[in-house]
Amino acid sequence: MTSPNVLIFNCGSSSLKFALIDPISGVEVISGLAERLGEELASIRYSMGGMKQRLELPGADHQEACAQILGLLTEAGLKQQIGAIGHRVVHGGERFRESTLIDAQVMDTIRDCQRLAPLHNPANLIGIEVAQQHFPSLQHVAVFDTAFHQSMPAEAYLYAIPYALYQQHAVRRYGFHGTSYRYVSQRALELLELPTDHSLLCAHLGNGSSAAAIRSGNSVDTTMGLTPLEGLVMGTRSGNVDPNLYDFLASECGYSLQQTSRMLNKESGLLGLSGLSNDMRTLEQAEAEGNERARLAIDIYVFTLARQLAGLATSLPHLDALVFTGGIGENSSRIREATCRRLSILGIDIDLERNVANGAQSQGRISADNNTPAVLVINTNEELMIARDTHHLVAQQVADTEPSPSRHH
Ligand code: ADP
Repeated sequence: MTSPNVLIFNCGSSSLKFALIDPISGVEVISGLAERLGEELASIRYSMGGMKQRLELPGADHQEACAQILGLLTEAGLKQQIGAIGHRVVHGGERFRESTLIDAQVMDTIRDCQRLAPLHNPANLIGIEVAQQHFPSLQHVAVFDTAFHQSMPAEAYLYAIPYALYQQHAVRRYGFHGTSYRYVSQRALELLELPTDHSLLCAHLGNGSSAAAIRSGNSVDTTMGLTPLEGLVMGTRSGNVDPNLYDFLASECGYSLQQTSRMLNKESGLLGLSGLSNDMRTLEQAEAEGNERARLAIDIYVFTLARQLAGLATSLPHLDALVFTGGIGENSSRIREATCRRLSILGIDIDLERNVANGAQSQGRISADNNTPAVLVINTNEELMIARDTHHLVAQQVADTEPSPSRHH
């Protein structure tokens, strides 16, 4: 690799997030988002060296957005700085336990996983194909949301349904947010100087929310399942409900499978409970103004989170730390305090002042220095993790293909 900088592509069905990152220092040279692709209002916003810009691209698709991004990078003299491209891929099935260089076989497997993530993998594939066309001479790497959780034991990943459904159709818990968990758990180890044999609970609380138990660097349990719908209450997703709801709503209300799926994924969670918003900031404000349904939505969010964290703890021999991350985990002292109050059974006890300051002056620590388990707020950085994996894999490949130095006897 002539330059170490990595271009990150995170492709959604109508968006393309990108960033050029130095994988060693973590410095973002440029980052941006192309959104509403395929619509009249398609646009790209990006920031570079503190300058923010916006380009309107009416009707642009992923292909055009990628060409524009390449144009931007060329114009800014950054094209030569791109050493490799790292792609976020949501589902890697059981095949990918870690990030991988992309070749035709890897593409086939990602394509194969589309049935497990029909909303995400097709967009991720478009991102890779478009980027390969524009950057044919560079190495491309896939970093999977599911890979980190492949270390879970069978008791954590199997559902108690006929085993043949696992054998024949790969029905099992996969879990998501793995790149974020890898990042925040490594940061927690550094900050707390924990030994190899450590035990953590991590909660990634954003629009999608999940939690995981991590033992000695490996995921041993997580709340999301076959799809990201399972587990915690989220912005618009219900999290756990009785699976018989499908049946009940079909006979009681004439709902089709699609209607119930849509309701559970898009109209439930904080939005469904509050009838107001899927956004935690809006709900906290409404609650402060006396809105009862906002309060109820927040209470149920916290109840579910605490209950699931306590359940995850049963996969750990002891607890070194609880880590909060994601938009809500990093910013909402309200949610952290209420959740930690419910977890006193795990010895969790936070310092209220540190919590209100989001751990800003205490290296993310919001528990007292001498209290175990520690409670931490760590800002996640999935892009940096993708950049590091990409850099590492490409450097390793270069080392593997270089002839070994001749030995002199
Ligand atoms: P995504 O999962 O889409 O990446 P984020 O991780 O950015 O989402 O999290 C978005 C959530 O974080 C929203 O519910 C938002 O309201 C919440 N959030 C962001 N800042 C705050 C804050 N200061 N207080 C409470 N919630 C916040």
